[in-house]
Amino acid sequence: MTSDRVENVWIRLKDRAIYTRADFLLRIEKLAKELNITQEAAAYIAAKEEGIDISEFLAPAKKGRILDVGPVKVSRAGGEEVQYCLFSLVNEEERLLGCAFGDRVDEIKDLEDRAVEITRYTMARSTRYRMLRATERSEIRILDESAVPPVWELKTAKAISLRDMSRSSLTWIAEAVVLNEDVTEYNSCPTCGRGVELKDEGWVCRDHGLVHAQVRKVHHLHVGDSSGIYPSVYFGELPGEGLFKARVVVKGYFRGGELQISKFYKVQKAV
Ligand SMILES: [Zn+2]
Repeated sequence: MTSDRVENVWIRLKDRAIYTRADFLLRIEKLAKELNITQEAAAYIAAKEEGIDISEFLAPAKKGRILDVGPVKVSRAGGEEVQYCLFSLVNEEERLLGCAFGDRVDEIKDLEDRAVEITRYTMARSTRYRMLRATERSEIRILDESAVPPVWELKTAKAISLRDMSRSSLTWIAEAVVLNEDVTEYNSCPTCGRGVELKDEGWVCRDHGLVHAQVRKVHHLHVGDSSGIYPSVYFGELPGEGLFKARVVVKGYFRGGELQISKFYKVQKAV
């Protein structure tokens, strides 16, 4: 009569043929009594005594989809430069704030919306949040697409309403109806996509200097749901022509009262 967790430890141990099952159970019994700990804790100690890495038991693999990846930043803690970025991992149970460090940053940058499994991470807890830290020793494995439901089906990723979403600074999946659409064009930097200024010498980017400006489109959409009407903005090509009255499922976040749409998942045309 052992728990599943103790059983999992046994599965890892038995291949090593150190213990018989009976010996293992006796060892656990003894450790639990001596140290006044649970059978599960005793099983982990017994495994670690035999050189088994128990981090996967203490921090079980986190499965989910990468909802968003923030900008890459550099920390200079301890005189060493380390790149890091924030991300969100969503699954059917929870929404986790994550922080990737070092090489994990380059991996996670390309994994938006993908199904992944993260192991050998650590959890940092503060009074305000829990954070999953994916460090050099962590592993990020890409899973089969069927391993996690699509992001728009995950409750932990979906905004309850546009109003709710407008009060948060996080990225969410939202469903809304398009009431009006308008498009403007602007001259942008081909490297960073930001607006450029016309000066005597030509188009100038704040960061990239003199550039050959590219004309980009900005779509201004008014979207609504049962909670209200909100202005939104989308850079790039819209999915299909004419979104008037279409019901859309999008990813985005609010900034200054305006929904910044980063991606369209579904467009259900008006009847
Ligand atoms: Zn630029």
